[in-house]
Amino acid sequence: MKRNWTVPALATTFLVSSMCAAAPVEDQAREERLLAEAAKIHQHAITLDSHVDIGGARYATSEMDPGIENPRLKCDLVKMSKGGMDGVFLAVYVGQSPALDEVGFKAAYEAAMVKFEAVHRLTEQMHPDKCTLVTSADGVRKAVKTGKRAIMIGIENGYPIGTDLSLIRKYYDLGARYITLSHSGHNQICDSSGPEQPMHGGLSEFGGRVVAEMNRLGMMIDVSHVSEKTFWNVLRMSKAPVIASHSGCTALNSHDRNLTDEQLRALARNGGVIQIVALGSFLKADSPERRQAMAALREELGFQRLRRQDRQAMSAEQREQMEKLYGVFQERIKEIDDKYPTADLKIFVDHIDHAVKIAGIDHVGIGTDFDGGGGIRGFNDHSEARNVTVELLRRGYSAKQIRKIWGENLLRVWRQVEKARE
Ligand SMILES: [Zn+2]
Repeated sequence: MKRNWTVPALATTFLVSSMCAAAPVEDQAREERLLAEAAKIHQHAITLDSHVDIGGARYATSEMDPGIENPRLKCDLVKMSKGGMDGVFLAVYVGQSPALDEVGFKAAYEAAMVKFEAVHRLTEQMHPDKCTLVTSADGVRKAVKTGKRAIMIGIENGYPIGTDLSLIRKYYDLGARYITLSHSGHNQICDSSGPEQPMHGGLSEFGGRVVAEMNRLGMMIDVSHVSEKTFWNVLRMSKAPVIASHSGCTALNSHDRNLTDEQLRALARNGGVIQIVALGSFLKADSPERRQAMAALREELGFQRLRRQDRQAMSAEQREQMEKLYGVFQERIKEIDDKYPTADLKIFVDHIDHAVKIAGIDHVGIGTDFDGGGGIRGFNDHSEARNVTVELLRRGYSAKQIRKIWGENLLRVWRQVEKARE
């Protein structure tokens, strides 16, 4: 999911504020022990987030610097350090025009290049002292040992492959190590979970060749966003385990972006991993009252989501005006949040719990979708990553299990995908 405007991160002290108020002394002592234990786990674990969005051409420039604690970003290198996060897959997300034609494919290719350049600018020119581009599973630990953040690349939406299989190799050479086969619309590769009506009935014939080529190169196949039929087709065809880079559990919230228990069990048999998403509306459905309140607020402020073309055509002044308005909008949403609460850290961890119960501890990880709509109370940016660990500890997970969730499971899949390479 994409947001047109980045929301300033809230300095949420979810755990502390929820425990301090009149908590007995022994409760506080226990919470402090949990925090210390979480800090220790983060020191030794490899902690990875499989899905974070980035802006376009402005990302990794002085206008949007991920090397400082940037209020416009939920994921930046400072917040990662603060929260004990070692690595992140940045998404080369590309939208699509409805037409699956050469004009659209060419524009998408160019849009993908802009984002690849932004990531390379980050790791090679802007902050090579703080982070490094990693292109292999073993490279992650090496990077972490040097004290740098590991930056990986995933492509979100196979649309920019067009009909040219050789572009997969090109993207691989630029550092991409997974491709989410579709976004929220059907593309030339497969059906998406978004639209009601199917287009191909799963993977297209070309999509089958994309899966084979990704297997051949050693790229992870990402089934977040694809339709159920596509999911089953991919699992049957892929020679290597697959990932769902940012999805939740249908059993807890029936949303097209989530996986059913049957899919979770199949993912486990496949050896793959579901990376639980931290995007509120995937985790918990909005109540009708909340939806109504949101609509009324939009109406009152005259706030509408703008199309990309409109945004690009704005003057600096108009842009500033719009950002200001969006700031007001976000402030007012807080009132609605208080009245009709959305998903929070506990609900996020409920999804982890459920996935572990159904698929097993070896098949669950974390993919936040920060800066693409992700972020919930208690885990609103990377500086709050330890809160997740504390909540897992509170529910009885061992350090070993938590290390699996935070990164070892994803690294295992990545290694297997590398091994299956021809
Ligand atoms: Zn997405």
